[in-house]
Amino acid sequence: MRSPVSPALVARTSSFVFVGERLWLDFVNSDDATHARGEARTDALDSFEGFVGWLSAARLLDDERATALLRRALQQPTGSSAALHEARRLRNVLRALAERGDAPHERATQTAIAEINRILGRSAGTRRVEPRSDGGFVRNFVTAGDVFAGLMIPVIESAADGLVSGELVRVRKCADPKCARVFYDGSRNGKRRWCDMKTCGNRAKAARHRKKLSG
Ligand SMILES: [Zn+2]
Repeated sequence: MRSPVSPALVARTSSFVFVGERLWLDFVNSDDATHARGEARTDALDSFEGFVGWLSAARLLDDERATALLRRALQQPTGSSAALHEARRLRNVLRALAERGDAPHERATQTAIAEINRILGRSAGTRRVEPRSDGGFVRNFVTAGDVFAGLMIPVIESAADGLVSGELVRVRKCADPKCARVFYDGSRNGKRRWCDMKTCGNRAKAARHRKKLSG
């Protein structure tokens, strides 16, 4: 029997949204991680537990590994808080890449490349595909050394793929000025405007409707 992660964590992470179409963009959006309507934003990385919860919700960790990580974090609070700090810092770097990175000589791009290479450079470990408790599969990266060091590797690899495949020209910021979410526009006409039709897209639709009624 696998030991489950804490019920509070599961409840919280089950409401996380993944609307970026690319893992690294979803990670950038983890500072606004739930379908909030007019409520305060939920930052998934407000604690190490939240970070592990986000990685689990993104299917980068299975329950067993998530539980082991949380246990290890209690034993090594310095290591886990350093990992959280680094994840937040990388998120800022990736946000700059998402927002300004389609110009290759942009400083944000240069910084991101340096950070990506730094993380990839220390990725000693094993990649594995393993069954999940819910019947699906998860890709795991098991680091050879420090357990916390490898956590960002799948996200960083996703950003590297985005750069290599020339996708940055299709990375957009949500058209709602109050929303900072970013996404990959995979639409055929390249005109996707909203991070999410359930929140921002719907608000815009309602506003257009109200204008029509009053005008
Ligand atoms: Zn939005």
